[in-house]
Amino acid sequence: MDGIAEVGVTGLAVMGSNLARNLARHGHRVAVHNRTAVRTRALVDQFGGEGTFLPAESPGDLVRSLERPRRLIVMVKAGAATDAVIDEFAPLLEPGDMLVDGGNAHFLDTRRREAALRARGLHFVGTGISGGEEGALHGPSIMPGGSDESYQALGPLLEDIAAKAPDGSPCCAHLGPDGAGHFVKMVHNGIEYADMQLIAESYDLLRHVAGLEPAEIAETFRAWNTGRLDSYLIEITAEVLAHTDAATGRPFVDVVADQAEQKGTGRWTVQTALDLGVPVSGIAEAVLARSMSGHLDLRAAAHGLARRKRATPSRQSTSGFADQVEQALYASKIVAYAQGWNMLQAGGAAYDWNIELGTVAAIWRGGCIIRAAFLDRIRSAYERDPDLPMLLTDPSFAEELDGAQDDWRAVITEAVGAGVPVPGFSAALAYLDGLRADRLPAALIQAQRDFFGAHTYRRTDRDGVFHTLWAGDR
Ligand code: NAP
Repeated sequence: MDGIAEVGVTGLAVMGSNLARNLARHGHRVAVHNRTAVRTRALVDQFGGEGTFLPAESPGDLVRSLERPRRLIVMVKAGAATDAVIDEFAPLLEPGDMLVDGGNAHFLDTRRREAALRARGLHFVGTGISGGEEGALHGPSIMPGGSDESYQALGPLLEDIAAKAPDGSPCCAHLGPDGAGHFVKMVHNGIEYADMQLIAESYDLLRHVAGLEPAEIAETFRAWNTGRLDSYLIEITAEVLAHTDAATGRPFVDVVADQAEQKGTGRWTVQTALDLGVPVSGIAEAVLARSMSGHLDLRAAAHGLARRKRATPSRQSTSGFADQVEQALYASKIVAYAQGWNMLQAGGAAYDWNIELGTVAAIWRGGCIIRAAFLDRIRSAYERDPDLPMLLTDPSFAEELDGAQDDWRAVITEAVGAGVPVPGFSAALAYLDGLRADRLPAALIQAQRDFFGAHTYRRTDRDGVFHTLWAGDR
């Protein structure tokens, strides 16, 4: 006899439990299972009143409790645990059943798993889920890959529990076959790294060039959050900066060790970008800045090197400088996001996913960490022109970059003079300057390559491939 649960969730740590609760709160009958049964019992004991949970003691129980075709969401630790769970459940499933991996898997692992399960008639649906534990409970941004057929069965369920954008549409869409969903989630996280780095650089400038205190900078971020930078990350930055440490009475940001950790999705984005040949300098600088912050040995060894006396900040010019920093932050953000979208485009082409670029912006408007008013502008840009060669060429973004550039350059100059590192701002501007240059010094590099390695070159004045007999050629 078929089971009665519409959907199952296995893996009931914080993400799985909250996702199961979200499903139950939306009126779905959810079968729940965890390797260690105590978590299953705790979920049902604590939250059983929120909806219909069907606890399962074993994988077999879980599979038997599901309606056919079965929809089973796996929310376990990414990596070997996901393979172990697949190996456990796949033999219990039947052709047409769907196994959804909602963990943070690498898209290449998802491609491998999808191909293996497809050969057994099963749908493997690699699905990016963003928004952390709160998002899982109240509505995350959901990025499913997998077959069209699987989305027909899963889409209504996932769209029901996803966050809703300000216009009411669900922050969930089918992004393409096999690993497309996890690829898009990876790029989301890469952009998140870049955005956080740019915000951190803005804070550093306001603190160490303008001489503002964290509580004052919190006010600046609050004001920014009412304008074009309106976003979750700016909002929480203001909250963090306004927070006082209870134990010491000092600004909280001053008692946190200045070493930023990373779980790996930013690094994956950069590694993949290198493979695809897409320059994502904003994301790369953000990943590298986190790495550098953790090299305490090198930082201690470099302490006091190239000592530079900073000018005392002038308080009169503070508000003008804050406005310039806002321009620099916004312009750098446009570039970092444009690089992320270039990567979505390149990944889509390389793996035949046909990722709709406007749709990605649409489903990131709510639920996820980079949710922002700004994403609606990216959605509109691709709606106006689905064949936009890149985001920077959208007329409205191009105009904003043009308007920001004097302040952007002034802020970077000021930072360089004061010895405050702004790798994100500088990389973004260098990228734009490189792209728009009439001539790049790449000509010299290609000539050098021809000199030492006979790598040949093309000429500006005639077609063909050339090699010069340099003095070193014998
Ligand atoms: P987690 O700490 O990543 O994983 C713990 C869960 O995995 C537990 O249910 C654990 O079961 C299970 N597990 C580990 N090894 C297993 C194995 N060999 N066989 C069966 N089950 C195994 O939990 P999480 O933070 O809730 O994250 C779940 C997934 O969501 C991860 O892939 C994570 O990357 C992804 N994710 C997390 C966030 C977040 O903000 N935390 C956001 C987006 C996505 P036991 O209880 O039996 O140990």
